[in-house]
This record gives sequence, structure tokens and C-alpha cells, in this order.
Amino acid sequence: MKKFYITTAIDYVNGPPHFGHALEKIQADSIARHERLLGKEVYFLTGVDEHGLKIVRSAQEVKKGVKEFTDENVEKFKKLIKELNISNDGFIRTSDPEKHWMGARAFWNNLVNAGDIYKGKYKGYYCVGCEAYVTEKDLTDGKCPYHGKEPELIEEENYFFRLSRYADIIKKKIEIDEIKIIPPARKNEILSMIKRGAEDISFSRPAEKLDGWGIPVPGDESQLMYVWCDALSNYISALGYGSDNQEKFNRFWPADLHLIGKDILRFHALVWPAMLLSAGLALPKRIMVHGFLLSGGRRMSKSSGNVIDPFDLIEKYGADAVRYYLLREISPFEDGDITEEKFKDAYNANLANGLGNLTARIMKMSEQYLAGENFESGSSKQEEGVVSDFDKFMENFELSRAMDKIWELVSKLDSRIQKTEPFKLVKTDEEAAKEILRELVSGLKKIALMLAPFLPGTSQKILSAIRDNKMPKPLFLRV
Ligand SMILES: [Zn+2]
Repeated sequence: MKKFYITTAIDYVNGPPHFGHALEKIQADSIARHERLLGKEVYFLTGVDEHGLKIVRSAQEVKKGVKEFTDENVEKFKKLIKELNISNDGFIRTSDPEKHWMGARAFWNNLVNAGDIYKGKYKGYYCVGCEAYVTEKDLTDGKCPYHGKEPELIEEENYFFRLSRYADIIKKKIEIDEIKIIPPARKNEILSMIKRGAEDISFSRPAEKLDGWGIPVPGDESQLMYVWCDALSNYISALGYGSDNQEKFNRFWPADLHLIGKDILRFHALVWPAMLLSAGLALPKRIMVHGFLLSGGRRMSKSSGNVIDPFDLIEKYGADAVRYYLLREISPFEDGDITEEKFKDAYNANLANGLGNLTARIMKMSEQYLAGENFESGSSKQEEGVVSDFDKFMENFELSRAMDKIWELVSKLDSRIQKTEPFKLVKTDEEAAKEILRELVSGLKKIALMLAPFLPGTSQKILSAIRDNKMPKPLFLRV
């Protein structure tokens, strides 16, 4: 059986989850579900990143112990995953000494043994928002372009990782798609980033500056691993790397797909492969990069008053409606936009009216005129073109275009009903009407099967309506 290992980035738990977190989980979930349907053995990992200065400070701001603070936030992330119906197989917490630290520290030792960790002085800038060392060329008007804040100047003695040693070889591997970066625009972006230069990177920080919150560097407890060094190793620690039981690691590594946001491309396409090369481990096969989720053209923020709470929308419209919007109305590779107005429009047009109406119309007629029949057999010919396009889009993770194909089928069946009017035809030619109905039901079944990775709950509802040959309750109520 073929395996498929897919990961999301681990979420930074300095606050509750927002819509951007929902986007990445849902994208990964629909890919994982699709790969399972293709018959692969899938391991789908997600989790949380709990270390770093930003978390220590966020906890201090609300006068909480950092452990208590992250525990509370982690529960909110777990709740989001559950409410979105995410089918992850693993959930990693970087504060877990047994599941994560052991692997992270074993990995660090491998970098040491390769001669790639050395002590040095770091003097330069650090953006706490990014948890990243930055240089003048990363800044816009002296500020971090992602956080709009001036970075802090730090000067300290740390351990460094010899990133420069691997930059060229990684550049070549990306060029020939041995590490495939999707979409191509992001491939070009990382290639030019590497061409501008890849200096060695500070890989630890003094423990005292972080209130001791982090993973101690093996052999030197006065230093904690740099939060990105710690976080990236979750992709192997979660599989048991460095523990007594490496079975999962042997089965699933390397990752078939890392799914990440565009702001952390450098860490995943340069720093992480360099660490793996240093440790003598296989490299991830593909890295898929999504954009940011905006609201009304701007990043969601309390000060702009445009924050949309994912839990609110799930409660009002259901998980599948949220999944629908993020997967179909937003390109998987570019920035997208969500406002409640846009959300409602898409919901009414495509879910309540489009898919919901079609299902009700077909199943009502089927219940009435095809009583006693069942629909276990295959699909009709007219859908073949649609299905092969669908498969092609899914192969390239073009999720929204794959979903367009499903709704193309929805329109096709709608116009078939309009043209043939089986509810009238049944009075003059019952057999002909029944034959058309059977085709409509089989088309609807195809729709339900194609929907399974995206809207799993809705797919199930349609399939059981067909199995019972009964008109279902409305799938989506108009709002
Ligand atoms: Zn920043």
C-alpha cells in the first residue's frame, strides 16, 4: 500500500485560533481525505508550537504562567479542529517532553555530529512577531513587513547552524523539483531568496531570556533551542524519531506534502531541508504554499474591526459551509478574502440553492417515481470528462478548480431537469421519465462522492438519501 504523509504548519498558540488557521487545516484535510479515497495509507499531522519569546511575553501580559497560558490556548485549537471535522491522525505539542523533546534533541545531536553546530556571537535584529532573525534587507522602512514593528537589537552568544553549507545543494534540488514548491511563483521566490545569500543562522537563545521556556540544548542547559529549530523537528518527532519506537518514522518519512503559509517559506524550503541534509535524512517531496486570508482587502485585526471568528460562522452555518467557502471561493495558492456578506452570498447561491435544491428536487422525484429501487451501480457516461478534469486538478492540489468541476455537474443536472421535465414526462411516457431519473440519481451520487474530501458531512447526507431513496431534510437553509 502506498503511503502519504501530510502535515500542516504547527500553530503558534500566543492567542486563540483565527480564520487563517482554519484555512490551512481545511486544505490539508481535503487533501488527506482525497488521498485516503485513492487507497493510500495516510498519516495527517497537525499540532501546536508552544515555545518562543512571543508566547512568554503574551502570557506575562495576561499575568498567567506560560504553561497555563498555552494549555488554555491549545484547547481552543483542538476545539477548532474538532468543529471543522478535521481528520488528522496525529496532534503534536512542542511542550511535550516525551513525544517531542526526545526527537528534537536527538535531531540536534545529529547536527552536532555532522559538525554543523558551533558557538558564535549574534549581534543583529530579531522580530519577536516572526520569531526570526532579520536583516536590514528583510525590513520595509525599518519595520517588519508582516508585523509593522521595528525588530529588537540583540547581542548574545549562541549556537549557530551551518546553513551556508547546504544552500547551493538545496537550490539545485528545488530547481529540478526534487523538492517541489507549489505554486511555481513561490518556487521562484525561494530561489531568488537563496541567491541573495544564505548565512549561518543562530540556532539557540539564552535560557534566561526566555524564562527557561523551551527545549534545553543537549549538553548546555544555559541555552534553549531556537524556536524554529524546535518547531521544524515536529515533523519527525511526531513520527517517533529519536524514540524507542521508530516504526511510524520508518514508514512515513519523508513527508509527501508540507502545507504552509507564504510567510514561513524560507524556514520550510531552506532551513528545514538543510537540517535534514545535515542529519542525513530524506527531504520532503513537496511544499505547498497558501496565501493570507484577508477581510475586506485587509488583514484581520482588532484595530481594523474586521475580525471574523471561525467558531461563530461554524455555529451559524455549519462546518461544511465554512469548509465550502475556504476551499472553493479562495484560491489554494493566493491571498483570499472573506466577509460575512460574501460568505452569505456564496452560501445561498451555491449551497442552499445550488447543491441543496438539486438534491431535494432529484430525491423528491426519485422517492415518488422510483420507489423500491436502489442505486448501487456506477455512474452515467456524461460525467466522464468532468471526472477526469477533477482528478487532474486534485493531483496538483488545485482544490478550488476541482470543486468548480463538481458545481459544473450541479448545473448540468439542473439544466437536464429543466429540459426534460421528468415530473411532466412521467404522465405521458413513464418508462422514459424513469430512465432520466435514474441517470439524475446516478449523477447526484457522483457529486456526493466527489464532495467527500471537501464537505464530508454533506456528502454522507446525500449518499444516505440515495441509499434510502428518500428525500433528505434540507441540506442548507437559506439565510
Ligand atoms: Zn515580523
